[in-house]
Formats: sequence, structure tokens, C-alpha cells
Amino acid sequence: MLEYSAPQRDIEFLLFDLFRVQQVWKNIPAFADFSDDLVRAVVAEGGKVAGQVMAPVNQQGDEQGCTWNDGVVTTPTGFKAAYDAMAQGGWMGLSGNPVYEGQGMPKMLGCLVEEMFWGANTALYLYGTLTVGSSICIEAHGNEDQKNTYLPKLYSGEWSGAMGLTEAHAGTDLGMIRTRALPHSDGSYRISGTKIFITSGEHDLSQNIVHLVLAKLPGAPEGTRGISLFIVPKFVPDDDGDAGARNSLSSGSIEHKMGIRGSATSVMNFDNATGYLLGEENQGLACMFTMMNYERLSVGIQGLGAAELAYQQAVRYAKDRLQGRSPTGPKNADGPADNLLVHPDVRRMLLTQRAYTEAGRAFGMFVGMQLDLGKYNNDAQALAFSELLTPVAKAFLSERGFECAVLAQQVFGGHGYVKEWGVEQIVRDARIAQIYEGTNGVQALDLIGRKVLRDGGATLLALIDEMRNDDVPEEFAQDLTDAFDRLVRVTASIVERASNDPELAGSVSVDFLDLVGLTIYAWLWARMAGAAPDDEFGNAKRKTARFFFSRILPGAVALELGAGADSDVVMQMTEEEF
Ligand SMILES: Cc1cc2nc3c(=O)[nH]c(=O)nc-3n(C[C@H](O)[C@H](O)[C@H](O)COP(=O)(O)OP(=O)(O)OC[C@H]3O[C@@H](n4cnc5c(N)ncnc54)[C@H](O)[C@@H]3O)c2cc1C
Repeated sequence: MLEYSAPQRDIEFLLFDLFRVQQVWKNIPAFADFSDDLVRAVVAEGGKVAGQVMAPVNQQGDEQGCTWNDGVVTTPTGFKAAYDAMAQGGWMGLSGNPVYEGQGMPKMLGCLVEEMFWGANTALYLYGTLTVGSSICIEAHGNEDQKNTYLPKLYSGEWSGAMGLTEAHAGTDLGMIRTRALPHSDGSYRISGTKIFITSGEHDLSQNIVHLVLAKLPGAPEGTRGISLFIVPKFVPDDDGDAGARNSLSSGSIEHKMGIRGSATSVMNFDNATGYLLGEENQGLACMFTMMNYERLSVGIQGLGAAELAYQQAVRYAKDRLQGRSPTGPKNADGPADNLLVHPDVRRMLLTQRAYTEAGRAFGMFVGMQLDLGKYNNDAQALAFSELLTPVAKAFLSERGFECAVLAQQVFGGHGYVKEWGVEQIVRDARIAQIYEGTNGVQALDLIGRKVLRDGGATLLALIDEMRNDDVPEEFAQDLTDAFDRLVRVTASIVERASNDPELAGSVSVDFLDLVGLTIYAWLWARMAGAAPDDEFGNAKRKTARFFFSRILPGAVALELGAGADSDVVMQMTEEEF
């Protein structure tokens, strides 16, 4: 049985000891009035929804999955009530614009709530995250009429969101999409085409579904420069702004998937459906990226939620399960055996999970802080940092999330492989985060190509300089300096070698992204060790920091060697030799 409780103590530590959010927020007028009590109340309430409403329907959602019958999609038992609780609690509008009835909370706080929701029930929260993402896109690019029509309904969860990019022949390469949009005399458009893999494309949880769809206008330029974005609602809003006439779009089928089985993934057919241009013509991909940057951070946090859920199961199991004896002699002399925690290798697995999860939580908040500073204070440096770090957050958090889920499964031994304990579900649910929202390979290319090579590494070097400014405990200072120096060295080497080798970036991009992630985690661990209080919680933090520096950070040496290899190593094989 999967049990989830929100990591409240660690969250409070990050908010009030590590990031000292009041210091950050007093410089952001929109947040200046937020008291510690208000923030605590939001976190506590979010934890309740996660632990008491969403988590209890997680396993049955996986067992039942969604069903499709002639275009009608039914979600698992209990999902509707849990979705309504999320919606009525205002959680979809947590970071939404107050002008349109959003709650106006910082993304930094939103990241923490999202982690709880992902951890409690990944499949269910997918309906929420796409709703949040769609509202962000409409807020950024919609006209006043569109914002008034859609935002309050999305923030309240009465209507939900979906994102239609992928087509059967066009996944990563969206320039090839075939969905067409024809201008109509009333200023709207008629959308025709078939999208596949559409999360929350059809379901029974909300009154209306707002599809944001990429399509091409007649005569549009070839490739990605000719893509426009459209709002295509399942029910076209009437004059009062309520869900009106049924639009001509439908779910052709749903996918049978490895995990997130409670999340409906549809083939969506658009047959001359009424749509409304969102943003400028041919700027669709740029507009969609507003949504995707938030979604990508959120999908990274999906990995984090899975890792926390998995750790909670593994640590409980390790304390209860009796197998073998401690190498230093029995610790449970009256029992038939000691528990799993006496075994150094089991501890290695648990500490690895903990080291990645606690640093990951801090990392998500740090990226959220950059998004807040960029959005509310027009802080150009923070905006550049958020763009640099988005692919790292998406890929590094989701990779580590899957790794942690597998480690938790390993702690369970054979009991992790069978369904009874639920840990195998976490592994299956976590896997998708490495694939959708742009595969992690594509995130690594985005980091190295668009975010590093394009400015010769300047933004990354500025971030490293900023990180170097922090005081950290003496015991970690030299290792951290070495880690920063290593990243500077590897970046300079890649910038130089990539200038005359077009295949270099793609051949070392994943090692490079991992090196950036590990270096940032080292900085966060050193800072967390420094900020940790002098009590049991703080002692555990410092011990985990030591584990990270001794057992995980050394992996950076191997990454430097890998990133130093020439592209020949991967490109020399002929196609026939594969
Ligand atoms: C459960 C699920 C839910 C999804 N939800 C949505 C959704 O809501 N909306 C939506 O629009 N889409 C959705 N997707 C689609 C998802 O985003 C795509 O599957 C993903 O972007 C990859 O596209 P693809 O599957 O066509 O793979 P491909 O693009 O064919 O890629 C195959 C492999 O080649 C690599 N590759 C491709 N191009 C390059 C390149 N230029 N350089 C280096 N490597 C490359 C990829 O990294 C990958 O490893 C979903 C998919 C799934 C499975």
C-alpha cells in the first residue's frame, strides 16, 4: 500500500532557513505582504490535499486505468472527487494572475505544492498541471477577451487544459506538423488534423477542455517558423462565457501505457473545429514555449515527487524488514535477524535517494525563484538563469527521480517487483517524465546549443560566479571550488571544440547537462549544510551533505572525462555497422 505524507519539515527548512523567502519577497512588491503564517498555511493545506485526498486514489487509479467508449473517456473511480477537491481548493490558480481570479502566489511556493501533488498521485495531477500550463500561456499571449473568458474558468478548474503539439510523424521535429488552420469570416479559424499522445485531451473531470493546438495557416513559411497557436475549446464559449455548443473535435482512442494509467492520453481528431488564434500568426512555437518552460520545470518536479514517494516507502520497509545480521554483530539480538538498515549497501541506496531528493527540492525552488524575479521584477539576469536552468531542471530532476524510484524498488528486493507494495507503480509512473515535454536528450541539446554555445557560456559563467559568492562550511569549500573550476574548464573546452565540429555538442550534451546538475547540487548541499539548524534534523542534513560530497560528487570526474571525448567516438561507426 502506497502511503504519502508531505515532507513538511524539509519544506519549512528550505523556505525559512535556506532561501529566507521573506528576504526575497520583500523585494517583489506583489509578494511583500506574505507572512510566514500564510506560507505555512498554504503548505499545510496542500499537504492535506495531497496526503488525504489524492494519495488514497493513486493505486486504484493505476489498477483501473481510463476507459474509452465511442469517444467518451472515463477516469478511474475516485478521480472526479479528488480533482474537484484540487479545483475547489483553488490549487490550479495558485500562481495565477489575481486580476483574473488567480491567487497570485510565487512560483517558488508553487513548486513545493506541485511536488506534493505529483508525489501523491502523478496520473491525477497531470490533469492539473496541463490546466496550470494552459492558463500561463493564455495569460502571457491572450488578448483581454481571451483572458477574461478562459482564465477564471481554468484557475477554478471548472475547465481544464490540454496541449496539442505531437502528430504521428512529428514528435521532436514539430516543423513537420500537418494540422491546418483556415481563416473564417467571423475572425475565428477552422482547425483540421490529428494529434496523438494528448494528455487530458478527453476525460470526465471538467465541464470543458481548452485545447491549445499548433497548426499551420495557408501559405505559412516552412518548418517551425510557420507554426501558429490556437485555442480550440471542446465546448465553444457562449455570449455569457459559459461552455456552449459542442465543437467538432473528438478523442479517437486512448493509449494503453506502461504507467500513469489514470491519465488519459488521447488521439485527438480536429475536424473543421472552431479555433481562436493565440498570440501572433507564425509565432506559435515561441508562445507554446511560455507554457513549456513552466511545464518543463513541472515535469522535472514530477520526478522529484516520485523520488520522495519512493523514498518514504523504502525507508519504512527497511526499518521493518528483518534480514541478516549487522557486520558488527547483532543489533536486534532478541529477534531472528536485524533490519535492513544495518546493511551498508542498503544505506547507500537510501542515502543516494535522500541526497538527490533534498537537493532536487532546493533546486526546483531556486529555478522557481528565478522565474518569479524575472516575471515580477523584470530582472534580466534572473530570466536568463531561468532559461538556462529549465532544461537542467526538466532532465536532471526526472533522471534522478527515475533512478531513485529504481533504488527504492531495489531496497524492497523481490517485494519491489510485485504489485502488492506499489513500488513498481512508482517506477512505471516516473519513467514518462524522461520522455515527454521534449525528451531528456533534447533538453541536453537545448542546454548546450541554445543556452550555452549561443552566448559562449556567458550566462552559465555568471551563474557560477554568483554561486561562488556564498559562504559554505569549511569542510566542503575546497570540493565545491574544484567542482566550479571543473565546470568552467569543461564549458570552455566544449565552446572551443564545438566551433569547428558540428557533431561535438550532440555527442557530449548529456554528460554536460549531468555535470551542470551535479555542480549545482554540490552548491546546494554545501549551502544546506551551512544553514541547517543545530538539532537532529540539522545533523541528518550535514550527514547527507557528507555522503553527497564523498559518494556522488566524484561522478563529476567521470563526466569531465566523457565530455572531453571527441565526437568521433560516437560518430565513427557506419550505418551498416549498427
Ligand atoms: C504518455 C505521453 C503523454 C504525452 N503528452 C503529450 C501532450 O500532452 N501533448 C503533446 O503534444 N505531446 C505529448 N506527448 C508526446 C511527447 O512529447 C513526445 O513523445 C516526445 O516529445 C518525443 O517525440 P516522439 O515520441 O515522436 O519521438 P521522436 O521525436 O521520434 O524521438 C525519438 C528519439 O530520437 C531522439 N531525437 C529526435 N530528434 C532528435 C534530434 N534532433 N537530436 C537528437 N535526438 C533526437 C529523441 O530524443 C528520442 O530519443 C506525450 C507522450 C506520451 C508517451
